[in-house]
Amino acid sequence: MNIKKGQTYLLLGLIIIFLFLTFPKFGTQSVVASYDKNNPVNLQDVPILNYHKVDILNHALSVSPQEFEEQMEYLYKNGYHTITPDQLMAYLKSGKTLPDKPIMITFDDGYLDNYTNAYPIMKKYDFTATIFIITNLIGQDKRFMTWEQVKEMQQNGMVFGSHTANHKSLTSLTKEQVMNELNESRDEMIRKLGKRPKYFAYPTGTYNAEIEEMVRTAGYKAAFTIEYGQVGADSDVYLLQRIPIFKGQKTFRSFFIRLNGAPILEPLGLIKN
Ligand SMILES: [Zn+2]
Repeated sequence: MNIKKGQTYLLLGLIIIFLFLTFPKFGTQSVVASYDKNNPVNLQDVPILNYHKVDILNHALSVSPQEFEEQMEYLYKNGYHTITPDQLMAYLKSGKTLPDKPIMITFDDGYLDNYTNAYPIMKKYDFTATIFIITNLIGQDKRFMTWEQVKEMQQNGMVFGSHTANHKSLTSLTKEQVMNELNESRDEMIRKLGKRPKYFAYPTGTYNAEIEEMVRTAGYKAAFTIEYGQVGADSDVYLLQRIPIFKGQKTFRSFFIRLNGAPILEPLGLIKN
């Protein structure tokens, strides 16, 4: 009897501690979202996955094609719908409806394997992705895609954004050099793809307020960081957070935890970049 009672109290205590730890953070978040004057609708959060390479190389930025397929299959079977950055912006700016369980898939740099390995898998599930390219490496370095491949993917619903011309950390450059990186990559994409890129991803993830402003001045409508988080009503569209998917001992497990655990674990500081 006493042992049972003790166990019950222990369990109750643990539940109270858990609620105490998690609830205030959730509470604050939803209050902020529902009282934002510019966004009267209580917007849901949208996860944005960030990949780099999809290949079998033992590279820190790689996810194997098998792992990538498993992850796409998981999203498909669990009712996720991939969205474009235009859909995301319409949702954030004017509350336009998104499909159920929206998710954005992004790739940085523009590696060849995005075309050879990831693209066929995404087509299989009728998924779309946004790829941020380093324009001076496209068609120049054999590890990267060619402009023809980029064009083909664009014609089939993939979205391309700028990841600068040379992939230098922008905080290490002069103001003039930053502006050149932003303008040069934009103009090259217009020349090669016949379309003005609307979206940007900070190379190496570095930025500051001045750079953020220059990205705006160069005509980009939103920019993506490599900071861990989901996008919601209170997101700054020039500092959109993503969920990095890198190689790990058990990539699918960490993919699953990052995708599903983000809102619970992240505010508690249990997940770091
Ligand atoms: Zn990059």
